[in-house]
Amino acid sequence: MSDLDALFEAAKAVRENAYAPYSNFLVGAALRAPDGTVFIGCNVENASYPVSVCAEGGAVSAMIAAGYREIAEAVVIGDAALCTPCGMCRQRLKEFGTDDLVVHVADLDGIRRSFTMDELLPAAFELEYTSK
Ligand SMILES: [Zn+2]
Repeated sequence: MSDLDALFEAAKAVRENAYAPYSNFLVGAALRAPDGTVFIGCNVENASYPVSVCAEGGAVSAMIAAGYREIAEAVVIGDAALCTPCGMCRQRLKEFGTDDLVVHVADLDGIRRSFTMDELLPAAFELEYTSK
């Protein structure tokens, strides 16, 4: 199994754990650090909708908690044919993405499209921060 296949399978598996009783829209995300370590997250909704957390947000939090700071590759999987990261998550991924981060968007059958960070978030807001 290739690294990308493994990343897809990790995202697909964690999607099954999503807590989405309000939207019934299950999303999984898997991030691969440059050393190959994978972090996963799923969406977690809340009765107070703004409290909800996206799958990418959960995966980024897990990565940071483990002491990692860079994302080399990501897979986001949802029910829709093109479950691209929301605007907030594009900014989240940009914060930690390597210069050549690729975000793959998948449905249950496989990866449908792949995007560079510049395609997802052109003219991104960013500040130079040296302790990455
Ligand atoms: Zn999001």
